[in-house]
Amino acid sequence: MGKVRVDAKRCKGCFLCMSVCPANAISVSGELSEKGYETIRIDEAKCIQCGSCYRMCPDCVIEIGGF
Ligand code: SF4
Ligand code: SF4
Repeated sequence: MGKVRVDAKRCKGCFLCMSVCPANAISVSGELSEKGYETIRIDEAKCIQCGSCYRMCPDCVIEIGGF
């Protein structure tokens, strides 16, 4: 299985990704991005690699792949 990677410094805290995750794997990280927005984190143990967050994010913050 691949992995998910979050470039949190570019996250703007819109939480669209969280709203579409079927596995409830995305949560608020408690850290702020470079521009002062709330950021998210992904629990890889819960993630089922469906790609919904990747497709939903308007800022291409999330990458999914084999790295
Ligand atoms: S959709 Fe993108 S910008 Fe919005 S909270 Fe999720 S990772 Fe951040
Ligand atoms: S790839 Fe799917 S399961 Fe994993 S965090 Fe994104 S929306 Fe959730």
